[in-house]
Order: sequence, then C-alpha cells, then structure tokens
Amino acid sequence: MSKLYIVATPIGNLGDITLRAIETLKNVDLILCEDTRETKKLLNKYGIGTATLSYHTHSKLAKTDKIFKLLEEGKDLALVSDAGTPGISDPGAMLVAQIKDNDNLRYSVDVIPVPGPSAVIAALSACGLPIHEFTFLGFLPHKKGRETLFKEITEAKRTIAFYESPHRILKTLESLAKFCPEKKVCLARELTKIYEEFKTGKAAELLEYLKENPVKQKGEFTVIVA
Ligand code: SAM
Repeated sequence: MSKLYIVATPIGNLGDITLRAIETLKNVDLILCEDTRETKKLLNKYGIGTATLSYHTHSKLAKTDKIFKLLEEGKDLALVSDAGTPGISDPGAMLVAQIKDNDNLRYSVDVIPVPGPSAVIAALSACGLPIHEFTFLGFLPHKKGRETLFKEITEAKRTIAFYESPHRILKTLESLAKFCPEKKVCLARELTKIYEEFKTGKAAELLEYLKENPVKQKGEFTVIVA
C-alpha cells in the first residue's frame, strides 16, 4: 500500500522539526511542496536529498493525476507546505479529501499525519487567554462576509483564533475595536523567530501600539480574541 505522509514543518525556527519528520522526508520517494525553493532551505539544513515536486492550491488537475499515478505505482510521498501543518490554511486538505473520497481508486493509499508545528496552536499555547475551548477561523474574508464574521466574533462564547496578514492587521484591529471594544485580544507575532512577540490588550490599545511602532506591523500574525 502506498503512503502519503502529511508532514508538519517549522513556522520560523528551523530547529522546530521532529525526528520523525526528518526520517520521513529522507525516506519517501518524492516530496510534494507548496514552494520547492522554500522547502529546499529546510531540506538542505538537514541533508535531505529527496526529489521535490510543486503542489499548491492552484495546481492543475493534471498535477493531481500525476500524484495519483505515482501513488498507484506504489510510491511513498510526503506533502509539506511552506510552514506549519499542511491543510491548515494551506494546500493539502483537498488532496487528502480527493484520496479519501475516490471510490474509483484501484489501489489503497494510507494517509499518515506526521504532526508538528502550527502557528495557531503555538499562539494559543502561550497567549494566556482561556483556551480550553476555541474556534479557529483560518484567514478572515477580505470583503464579503467580513462584517458578519466580526459580529459572530463579538457574540462568540469561545475564544477565537485566526490568521491575519500584516497588510490588514490595522484594519482588523479597527473592526475589533468597533465591534467588540471590551474583549481581550492577543497578537502573536513572528512566533519562534527573532522578533517573536505576544501583546495583549483591548483592540484599540493594540491599534495604538502598532501605530506608534510601525515596525511592529510587519511579520506574521496570529490573532486570538478571548
Ligand atoms: N499551515 C500553517 C500552520 O499550520 O501554521 C499556516 C499557513 S497560513 C498560509 C500562514 C499564516 O499563518 C500567516 O499569514 C500567519 O497569519 C500565520 N503564521 C504563520 N507563521 C507564523 C508565525 N511564525 N507567527 C505568527 N503567525 C504565523
């Protein structure tokens, strides 16, 4: 039975990779990468010479067919994204669904998770807000449905976590300040990297903080709303 390993990779600090992930990436026949150049940095660090193939959200059907063919030939593959856990706001979920849903497959494929870093879990684990229950929203929509979502966040009984880009972080904080001014918000920025920072406060306070320190508007953000 061929195997497709879903391998989590570091979200910044290249030391955050499991022994099993390294072994798996060394031993598979091919690594499917969101961006082969990005993954090569990791592979070079750990002396992994396995061949790579790009696979991303916009990959054409032909690419999926090629992957299916390799699996049919009995090849073992690993899927990685640029950072963190594949499928979590990253390519991968669709490929796994296609494999699991495909009644026409004349062969069976074992889909095996190799767990490791994910920004949302890292952010929750050290944010200091209640995390015994939470809802993860991925990336918020840019336009349609955005206001409805902020209303939902306002009424939510559970902690909410989502990903946000540096281009929209101010806009998002403005919306949080408007819809839920009293809620505690934690900005988890640049996790596992040199400028890692957790900053907690009301949305308006965080907005002021970022405006006063434009350099803090840069980097990768995970937002937690208590
Ligand atoms: N699959 C990844 C995971 O499991 O964490 C998430 C991929 S998603 C395309 C990328 C987003 O995750 C970034 O825009 C940011 O919101 C968040 N993120 C990724 N790395 C991060 C980090 N080091 N610190 C804070 N947030 C991060």
